[in-house]
Amino acid sequence: MLYIVATPIGNLEDITLRAISALSNADLILAEDTRITRTLLERYNIKKGVISYHQHSALQKINRIISLLKEGKTLALVSDAGTPGINDPGNFLIMKALEALPDLKIVPIPGPNAAVAALSISGFPSDQFVYLGFPPHKKGRQTFFKNIGGIEKTIVFYESKYRIFKTLEELKKNSTVGERKIMVARELTKQFETIYRGTVDEVSAKLSQDNVLGEFVVVIAPTNY
Ligand code: SAM
Repeated sequence: MLYIVATPIGNLEDITLRAISALSNADLILAEDTRITRTLLERYNIKKGVISYHQHSALQKINRIISLLKEGKTLALVSDAGTPGINDPGNFLIMKALEALPDLKIVPIPGPNAAVAALSISGFPSDQFVYLGFPPHKKGRQTFFKNIGGIEKTIVFYESKYRIFKTLEELKKNSTVGERKIMVARELTKQFETIYRGTVDEVSAKLSQDNVLGEFVVVIAPTNY
């Protein structure tokens, strides 16, 4: 059995009772960064073996994990924050595990996700939305922003502190979203949680008055909203 366990995106209290019991009951925990996961486990007094599984893990590591599953072990996969597989490791491992063990029981333990948390406070329609992950750093970046202009529905994507200003600039320059309302959520669930609302220009101005550290989710309202 393989549990896919969502963990907090900042505030360690954002963990479900099921997540705690899945992590406690697993024979072994697969973690993107073992140090980050150990901090969470210590907080909940969960004493379990943790091995690393991340996006650069070799096929050899995946095969070792599959052998454990074949032996009947219960494993729990977590990422550094939020839901595994959502811009985080997990999908490839699941695909490979199912190739080897088509009847493997894969159990989602739902919980935090930064995009959904941001959407939930945006005030923008979320019955339909387009999730775009991270804008590409180099190749495809221009096209990414150009294409955004053609998406009429609510859009949500992730950005880091290194590129948030550049991204807001590009939103204006390379797409037609300059007039659309946006919301930028910074450091959700953490001490310096801040929500910026307005047009791209207004949000850029507010952000530039702050110490721009942390992690960001950008939400763009639908056209004509
Ligand atoms: N799997 C995660 C999830 O379910 O949200 C996403 C992982 S992705 C590698 C990390 C990005 O998510 C960050 O760069 C940031 O854009 C966003 N993010 C994660 N935690 C956040 C938080 N507390 N506040 C704002 N954005 C956050």
